[in-house]
Amino acid sequence: MTEPRTLGFDTLQIHAGAKPDPATGARQVPIYQTTAYVFKDADHAARLFGLEEVGYIYSRLTNPTVSALAERVCALEGGAGAICCSSGHAAQIMALFPLMGPGRNIVASTRLYGGTITQFSQTIKRFGWSAKFVDFDDLAALEAAVDDDTRAIFCETIANPGGYITDLDAVAEVANRVGLPLIVDNTTATPWLTRPIDHGATLVVHSATKYLTGNGTVTGGVVVDSGKFDWSASGKFPSLSEPEPAYHGLTFHAALGPMAYTFHSIAVGLRDLGMTMNPQGAHYTLMGIETLSLRMAKHVANAQKVAEWLEADPRVDYVTYAGLASSPYHDRIARICPKGAGALFTFAVKGGYDACVKLVDGLELFSHVANLGDTRSLVIHSASTTHRQLTEAQQIASGAAPNVVRLSIGIEDAEDLIADLDQALTKATA
Ligand SMILES: *Cc1c(COP(=O)(O)O)cnc(C)c1O
Repeated sequence: MTEPRTLGFDTLQIHAGAKPDPATGARQVPIYQTTAYVFKDADHAARLFGLEEVGYIYSRLTNPTVSALAERVCALEGGAGAICCSSGHAAQIMALFPLMGPGRNIVASTRLYGGTITQFSQTIKRFGWSAKFVDFDDLAALEAAVDDDTRAIFCETIANPGGYITDLDAVAEVANRVGLPLIVDNTTATPWLTRPIDHGATLVVHSATKYLTGNGTVTGGVVVDSGKFDWSASGKFPSLSEPEPAYHGLTFHAALGPMAYTFHSIAVGLRDLGMTMNPQGAHYTLMGIETLSLRMAKHVANAQKVAEWLEADPRVDYVTYAGLASSPYHDRIARICPKGAGALFTFAVKGGYDACVKLVDGLELFSHVANLGDTRSLVIHSASTTHRQLTEAQQIASGAAPNVVRLSIGIEDAEDLIADLDQALTKATA
């Protein structure tokens, strides 16, 4: 495993970050259920705290099981370093933390996970941060929204829930021109469908809760750094380019080069925010990732079949799946997600809000839950649940209009999913 990046995806998803346990030879990554680690001697302890030597101190910072997961996701995304966090939302705060300060803002896409819109439009204000939301298909508007206080540009690869694919190449070109890092939430695509760093992203964030773990058992998140951004070029990122008062004056970029962001996130971010992933959760996610490519291929094939069936059904107004030729984003697949358009889409039921609610109640195989990326097929009426806190205009802009239902297509038999939708549509539109 000296050069993991020369190995193929299916090999990396099993081997990256893992080697037989040096103490026992255990082949599967053990769950290192420990809080602290014994130092060899006082000098060893001092060197670890001084970042002169890399090693384990305390599990709020690093843990061998969690590190194996960070390395694996990092390898799959083609990054330089990664940090695991307690949830996808924690990963978003952790991703922004080294970049931001009071009065700073981000420019974010209008098409985001509902919880992210709330986090960015409300909660981050408590830190003195703010977000400006822009339609990322309007590149001129995106560029115009950037001001002297902007510190990052944020979008999702496949935007949940509306079946929208972001033109990552075009957005990265704008980010590059204005000298800002591009952060891409790759949760709904996974690195099997696309690697945002290959399209110019600086940082990639994940909710490991979804496809990475894949079976609805874990809450977790990951931040991957490309290691490619020059944190010292603009003077806008003093936490990385200047002596960091929160870490005895260490200048992270000068001292650690492409690993500056990762080390800052551990040594300051995890140390002080404490949004740490637990080793048991990391273990489940490691096991999930071992079959990521197999699951994603089936998720995508099923989604395509179900979306085509729904689009042809007279009880359905429209289906927003980029895998359909009718999608305005269909032509982006070949470039951004060549293996398929994901497994998450919405469809509009004739009969509007009331029919949607009846449909959700009538489904038997689909589970009505606020989650996605499970082996099981899931359904939710976003407007009355996950996107309820948004205004109707925000709901429509984010693809969660009152007359649409969102599906997360699992890896069951597509014929059984179609039969379930068929009977529930009959009940909903009777
Ligand atoms: C679920 C999700 C999140 C938030 O992740 P949690 O693990 O639930 O905190 C962020 N972005 C996207 C695209 C998601 O699907």
